[in-house]
Amino acid sequence: MSPSEEVNEAEGRGPARCGMPNCKVPSDLLRHDPLTDTYWCRGHDPDPTVAAQRKADQERGGMSTARRFKRGLDASELGELATPADAERWSRLVAVAVASGVLTPAQGNTTLRAVSEFVKSRDLRVREDRLSALESELQRLRTMRRVQ
Ligand SMILES: [Zn+2]
Repeated sequence: MSPSEEVNEAEGRGPARCGMPNCKVPSDLLRHDPLTDTYWCRGHDPDPTVAAQRKADQERGGMSTARRFKRGLDASELGELATPADAERWSRLVAVAVASGVLTPAQGNTTLRAVSEFVKSRDLRVREDRLSALESELQRLRTMRRVQ
């Protein structure tokens, strides 16, 4: 049991809750403000020192996120992905973008995997169409043979 829980239970108030309604932060992570006799989690604490530290942490987090996620390529640069030539162009653009730091390696890998899946499914569709055409031709030839 945390010190704040012990105090609250001793006073018959149950576990401490953050001053922000519906906040679910556990009582052992709350700071007690003796002036207002209110408990605050770090995310809701109105104390100026805590708020300034929270803002600094958020800005550091934002910079770290920006380093991990680059904006990427414009859809207009990539163009359509509908033909094998498109897939080749996409792959070339992604390779250059990763090599020059416009895309992260993770973004490059994800995009190239998607291009690879596109090529696979397109190849499968082409084979199905050819097989279907061959089956139709076979059926036509068998019918002709029966008629003669
Ligand atoms: Zn809170």
